[in-house]
Amino acid sequence: MPVDWVVVGLDNGGTTNNGTILDSGGRFLLDRMAEVPSDVREGPDKAIQSLVVSVEQVLGLTGVPITSVRAVGLDTPGPASGDGVISSKGATNFGHAGWRGFDIRGALAERLGLPVIYNNDGNSAALYAHHVRFGAESGQRSSVAAIVGTGLGGGIIHAGQVIKGAAGMAGELGHVPIPLDGLLGGGQSMPACNCGQSGDAESVASLTGIQNNLLPYWLTRYRHHELGGLPAGKAAKLVRKYAEDGDEMALAIFRQQAIAIGRLFTIAANFLDPDAYFLGGGVVEAAPHFRDWFFAEVRANTVLREEQARAAEISLVPDLDMAGARGSAVAARDWLIRQGHEVRTAGILFLRRRDQHDHDEASRLIALVVVVVRAAGRKAGTLARADGMALAGDRQRHGS
Ligand SMILES: [Zn+2]
Repeated sequence: MPVDWVVVGLDNGGTTNNGTILDSGGRFLLDRMAEVPSDVREGPDKAIQSLVVSVEQVLGLTGVPITSVRAVGLDTPGPASGDGVISSKGATNFGHAGWRGFDIRGALAERLGLPVIYNNDGNSAALYAHHVRFGAESGQRSSVAAIVGTGLGGGIIHAGQVIKGAAGMAGELGHVPIPLDGLLGGGQSMPACNCGQSGDAESVASLTGIQNNLLPYWLTRYRHHELGGLPAGKAAKLVRKYAEDGDEMALAIFRQQAIAIGRLFTIAANFLDPDAYFLGGGVVEAAPHFRDWFFAEVRANTVLREEQARAAEISLVPDLDMAGARGSAVAARDWLIRQGHEVRTAGILFLRRRDQHDHDEASRLIALVVVVVRAAGRKAGTLARADGMALAGDRQRHGS
């Protein structure tokens, strides 16, 4: 198959890297996981080398030459800045001292000699779910994804792009406080989160929430339950299995999680009014009868206005094990395409000015840039500012 250009997507996890490859037409050239050990516990040097091995692996599996790769998408667990600097306070997956404040995106870019586009793993999975659902219309749609795992990850996509925020902390859905009235049982104490808050979505809807908050409470209500005799961590992981088997206490625990996610989606409905709400994580990969019950509970607790219920949908994140790598690849391809649009947009404006010997006010030109940028489906603010500055300099040269 002829290949003009491709991007590689890498999902960096605590034990493995998962890689994939996406061509310029938006087709994934790998339909399965391509994994290598991530070596993150051994520090940055080893881990960067493992990411390079991951790139070589997907190229080897597909027979695509490295010269066809134009960019690499990378995701890691957080906390990290929006452009891939690991938190200076360390992070669960990045315990080695060398990781503190380490620029994993920059280091990989330097090593490969290629642009590397960074997202956290929740945002990458959210972007992948968005693209699978909306395809060619991705750029006109918005979505929210909540992915239940050890924590509660996910992200917000608007107009096809990840919302990162000023400090890289947008879309931290797990740490949004949710109303708890009618959720907590009688005498149940306020659930605490590792982030320091109480009563946020992750304090209920996560494996950590089960272990620290929900299971200890429910074991006081079901004093002779088998799970009471096990270490907390082990018991927490078994709750899903019990729920699949119809265990009353386990279902009460998952009902609280479903209410929490429904309330989180309700907040999203009023804040963002997205086209889609995606739900992902271990719970949706569970036995179908249990998954469907859980999903129905989430829907029942998501309060949408009539107009919103007609316009939006709630659905599952597909191919969750590959979503991080694939979302990373989508982000890299989108970035490349935006670079192309930017060049053409600037070229058109430049020609127009020179050909017409246009000496209009800078404000009119900036207005023109804003219109063109919006037509290309970008966020108007950032690019319009950058283009406007370039034009102002141009104008000064004309004037002198
Ligand atoms: Zn929190």
